[in-house]
Amino acid sequence: MSTLDPAAGAGYDDPPARVGFFTDTSVCIGCKACEVACKEWNGVPARGRELLGSSYDNTGGLGADTWRHVAFIEQRRPGTGDLRWLMSSDVCKHCTRAACLDVCPTGALFRTELGTVVVQEDVCNGCGYCIPACPYGVIDQRRDDGRAWKCTLCYDRLRDHAEPACSQACPTNSIQFGPLDELRARAAGRLEQLHELGVDDARLYGHDPDDGVGGAGAFFLLLDRPEVYGLPPDPVVTTRDLPKMWAAAAAAALTLVGSAVAAFAGGRR
Ligand code: SF4
Ligand code: SF4
Repeated sequence: MSTLDPAAGAGYDDPPARVGFFTDTSVCIGCKACEVACKEWNGVPARGRELLGSSYDNTGGLGADTWRHVAFIEQRRPGTGDLRWLMSSDVCKHCTRAACLDVCPTGALFRTELGTVVVQEDVCNGCGYCIPACPYGVIDQRRDDGRAWKCTLCYDRLRDHAEPACSQACPTNSIQFGPLDELRARAAGRLEQLHELGVDDARLYGHDPDDGVGGAGAFFLLLDRPEVYGLPPDPVVTTRDLPKMWAAAAAAALTLVGSAVAAFAGGRR
């Protein structure tokens, strides 16, 4: 399977181009239009109406009722010491190797033909296996019904050839939607531009197909280290060692059965 073509790996014949999000945080103004558009389109309940008190953030992170989360980070600018705000609209990464999908026993989580990862609310049984499996802490259970919820990358809109609600609502084009290859090329150009302008700390996050999740379908341009934004610096698919563990368990079971058979045969002599 190509690291960039998870739909083909999931069994789709001749799938369309993989799509995703490129979120350029350098132009985010923190208006939260993306959060509101996501809730409005997807019928996500309102939660976290109070500000946290530490910033203009009001949910503190992604959750079952927050499929887009705009982080407000107040910090002293490295070098000058001036105060600055970093704003970033976070979302499910639609990983190339998605552990949430690997562990789902019901098939509620599935890979779409467009390479995205979607959870079907009418199939989810609320077992919660996917929650600790996600290396980013994205997918979450809703308190009142126990089922798992997260960004669907507006699969229903994509099937009607419309773009996701958040990227359509974003007034600064901080959230860009499109074929992943195009987004990667655009992001590389933007990074080069920022470096030429002297923004040396600008970096891409989640764009690398050789990273621990095989590259993200939703990747970012950040202005500081990922940890500053609450993102893991080196995420790894949590099911990476499962095949080895199953092989070891199978070998142990075979040894056990073999010993039992040998003991039984020996006892009959
Ligand atoms: S970020 Fe988490 S919930 Fe989203 S696809 Fe990856 S593992 Fe699944
Ligand atoms: S809509 Fe765009 S500019 Fe506004 S908070 Fe979301 S990403 Fe930032």
